[in-house]
Amino acid sequence: MQILALDIAGNPFRWLDIERAITYAACGKIAWTVGRCELVFHGGVNRAGERSRISLHPVIALARSEAMTRHLQPLPLSHDNELLFRRDKSICAYCGERFERRMLTRDHIVPKARGGLDVWSNVVTACWHCNIRKACRTPEEAGMPLLFVPYEPCRFEHFILSGRHILADQMEYLSARLPRYSRMKT
Ligand SMILES: [Zn+2]
Repeated sequence: MQILALDIAGNPFRWLDIERAITYAACGKIAWTVGRCELVFHGGVNRAGERSRISLHPVIALARSEAMTRHLQPLPLSHDNELLFRRDKSICAYCGERFERRMLTRDHIVPKARGGLDVWSNVVTACWHCNIRKACRTPEEAGMPLLFVPYEPCRFEHFILSGRHILADQMEYLSARLPRYSRMKT
């Protein structure tokens, strides 16, 4: 489980592990919270025999965090294509079919051998069959028009893609802020 940390303006800043989030809570660094459910954690027992208890919301905004989010790194394309396939919902950009991961590949729209870059805006999910058929050609040359346009995930998509076991309140917060073109809208 992870806690979604926001900056004071509500921009996603980082996924925190529980231990880190508890530290922020214990130091009074949480400015405000989002979400109905509260996660309760129990710590050690003190001398009076009381067990420490801390509750966390699934989404927290950190106090004095104005400067932090300026340094957010762009989401890298992972080597295993996990994020790319999730962006494209495991759908091949050429035939429009949905496939299992092992049938999918990363296709460079402008092929790498011809100067195409390995960046979000030049890659799409493609099935093996379409990738082999397209070969070292552009979609125009191959007569295989793209069924959807690739794009670099915005900050909110970035967090949906990089999160693990996202809780309902966290997904609600992130989904509500997705741009219109996003394919991650449910
Ligand atoms: Zn295909």
